[in-house]
Amino acid sequence: MIELPEATVLANQLQKTVGKKITDLILNQNPHKLVWFYDQGAHYEDILKNQTITAVMSYGGQVVIVVPKGKLVLGDGINIRYQPQTPPLRHQLALELDHKEHLYFFASMYGGIVCFSNQDPEYLYYQIAKEKPSPLSESFNLKYWNTLFEIKENLSLKAFLATNQRIPGIGNGVIQDILWRAKLHPKQKIDELTERDKTILFQTLKGTLQEMINQKGRASEKDIYGEAGYFKLFSSFASCPVCSNPIIKEAYLGGSIYYCPSCQKESKRKKS
Ligand SMILES: [Zn+2]
Repeated sequence: MIELPEATVLANQLQKTVGKKITDLILNQNPHKLVWFYDQGAHYEDILKNQTITAVMSYGGQVVIVVPKGKLVLGDGINIRYQPQTPPLRHQLALELDHKEHLYFFASMYGGIVCFSNQDPEYLYYQIAKEKPSPLSESFNLKYWNTLFEIKENLSLKAFLATNQRIPGIGNGVIQDILWRAKLHPKQKIDELTERDKTILFQTLKGTLQEMINQKGRASEKDIYGEAGYFKLFSSFASCPVCSNPIIKEAYLGGSIYYCPSCQKESKRKKS
């Protein structure tokens, strides 16, 4: 799944399509049960065809292609590819640009390919991602970070970081390396974090995301040319790169967590 670092990289690469005209489109050529469209795709052609791409940006884990009549939002489960010469084979949406190049989108497991006009109500998931500060922005500062902990439930760090779109674009994919670097256990309850833990986690979150972007995304994900990123996940090693203990993989809250049992001890300490 695409998360914030990869969405940032993809949106940067897609700047080359700005100013190009969408001369044709094919919707749902290879239907996928778990891909959803806005209004079943009824108005995609009206909104997109013969329109010039005016901007491409990312919000959280979503990539947004802007045309004068509306927006096309590619969700975090959608693969985005660019093909300068031949038309693509399998996809749920393909855009022909300037009669020759192609941009196309397809899901691996599930995802939204959501296009809405400027008059339509905004897609909710997009709206939330757009309105919350990006963890890489200056407004995502320590003061803002601390307000995120002002919740009633005593969540585990995995639930805190990766659910409820608390931090848009952050999911189970990127949090494993962030927690490993911060030396915090994914099951650690947030009420038992010290102020120092929170500060370290804040710095590690920002630093790791930036490093993932600098390395063109995680090695498990691909860019618009189908090439993998360079950021190697610590879980891709058999043992912890720091202490050589075997890395543990466990099912937890609907997904796998990875941690080093020696570097990331779950603590029951009292709040400082
Ligand atoms: Zn270790």
